[in-house]
Amino acid sequence: MEKPKRALGLLSGGLDSMLAAAVLRAQGVDVTAIFFITPFFGPDRAKASAAHLQLPLILEDITDKFYPLIYTPPRGFGRGHNPCIDCHLLMLREAAARMEREGFDFLFTGEVLGQRPMSQNRGSLNLIARESGVPELLLRPLSAKLLPPTRPELLGWVDRDRLLDLSGRGRKRQMALAAEYGITDYPAPAGGCLLTDPNYAARLKETLRHQPEVSRRDLELLKWGRHFRLPGGMKAVVGRTQRDNEAMEKLIAPGDRVLKVSAHPGPLVLVLGNPVASDLELAAGLAAAYSDAKTETPVAVTVQAGAETTLLHLATPPKTRFKEWLV
Ligand code: SF4
Repeated sequence: MEKPKRALGLLSGGLDSMLAAAVLRAQGVDVTAIFFITPFFGPDRAKASAAHLQLPLILEDITDKFYPLIYTPPRGFGRGHNPCIDCHLLMLREAAARMEREGFDFLFTGEVLGQRPMSQNRGSLNLIARESGVPELLLRPLSAKLLPPTRPELLGWVDRDRLLDLSGRGRKRQMALAAEYGITDYPAPAGGCLLTDPNYAARLKETLRHQPEVSRRDLELLKWGRHFRLPGGMKAVVGRTQRDNEAMEKLIAPGDRVLKVSAHPGPLVLVLGNPVASDLELAAGLAAAYSDAKTETPVAVTVQAGAETTLLHLATPPKTRFKEWLV
């Protein structure tokens, strides 16, 4: 008996990528999934989806290769700070290299023609296929009947008639197919990638206006707390919740100033960069304003810089004083 063909598929963890895998597996294809990790998109959902489908899952961190796309992606950004076309291309090129190395026969994705205005219109799908380096080996099972046949179809590795002709943004047919394939656990559409999150994208854009390069720590910190750009250009991050405070604490780096109100419950405040005295006074005001101390209450704020701790005394200002600097 002929050995089943081996396909490697990009699995975001969303319903479309799950269905693409299920459609191929129903044709006897030996399916393996791959998820590419970046600071903006973690693997939890892909892990859950792969487990639900009982699919082998490869995880690969592409953060270093992704970095240039944060600054100047050749094909531009979507509505947030999402360089989707270049991101897809990067992931497909990495998958293609692995296909060669590990003897997979072809690649597949859960892309649906016309579902996303930027990266899934016909022009983008063609461009991504062409520039992936392996256009003839890239199958999109959910829209295959609307796209030129690929080698797996032409050679009969998969039956094109049993592939699909989905297009557009509707989800009805996907949900019916999910029921057909016994897929009961899948996330709501969109979401997952922080670069499409309007708040995160706005913070990242703002950061890039103030510094030419961002570190992995900067990217992590953008996920937590309230961010203020002080008039001198320094950034102050104020924890909103205990969870924020704990996450921020783990991200403290040498050179940061760490502020806390003594004698009142309150947030952790981090000041990044090289603050001068006036920056620290404002940051102390933030620490006090967002603490439980009532407005005008005299408080003491500890300012820690490495092993050195100083105290600043002030009257608690109202939160409204800082509104204009909120990022
Ligand atoms: S949404 Fe995020 S992970 Fe998905 S293609 Fe766009 S940039 Fe890449």
